[in-house]
Amino acid sequence: MWKTLTVGMQNFFYHPSLQILIDCGTGKDAVKKLLQQCDGVETLILSHAHADHYGGAVHFLKRNPCLIVAPSRERPFLIDPQLEPAILFGGWFPRQLASKWLLGPPNLPVQDLSTEKFPEVDFVELPGHTPALCGIRDGERLFVSDALFGPEILQKYPLLYHFDPLTALKTAKKLSAKASEFIPSHGTAGGKDLVEKNVACMEKAFERVENTVQRGKHPLEDVLSSVMEHIAPPTTLETYYLNRSALLGYVSALEREGHIKIALEGSQLVCY
Ligand SMILES: [Zn+2]
Repeated sequence: MWKTLTVGMQNFFYHPSLQILIDCGTGKDAVKKLLQQCDGVETLILSHAHADHYGGAVHFLKRNPCLIVAPSRERPFLIDPQLEPAILFGGWFPRQLASKWLLGPPNLPVQDLSTEKFPEVDFVELPGHTPALCGIRDGERLFVSDALFGPEILQKYPLLYHFDPLTALKTAKKLSAKASEFIPSHGTAGGKDLVEKNVACMEKAFERVENTVQRGKHPLEDVLSSVMEHIAPPTTLETYYLNRSALLGYVSALEREGHIKIALEGSQLVCY
């Protein structure tokens, strides 16, 4: 049976007899505290390629040598961790984005996750937060990693980062049919109410972006700033770029669905 392990505000999933751990957190201390709760780890499965889920892998390997695997579509970011801050910034990134939360360690020996090599593990594909985030189901319990966030996290950061918010929303809406208890990596686990809270958060962001655009033709940057100001004013360069990247995902989803238009006027993008 899978066990939920917690270090600080971050949850991990661990199977003692299979000796499989999902994610390892970031930093030496977190890894040490996590390993104190494990009775050996043979395989570390990374749910997705965000540094807060694998940043401590080098320390982890020193203390507990093991196989590391990740979904194949997450691996490019693990092989070249600079892609993450570069994507957030939209080009080569300033120093402030080279933080332990956004930039993972280089040269990790990560292999492709072949689910058939783990027949005892019930993997669930949960795309949207990242291209190929994977969750683990244990009967009615589902470790969802960052496909959902706990209520306290939603309250603190109401504009949560999802690489592709429309796919993340579709994934979240299907979750209630898959299990009855959901364990997010960040914050408190919950039932279907947790799914509903996350869905409401994403739908609110969609509505806010669409309403802002429908007030007239605006430069895209003004739309992004206005929505950020209302939902989640950034406090650091990191949160600004996480918010901005998430909002661009909302804008492009609305454009793809035919709700808004994006055009080039002079040297700036406008939405209407
Ligand atoms: Zn994440």
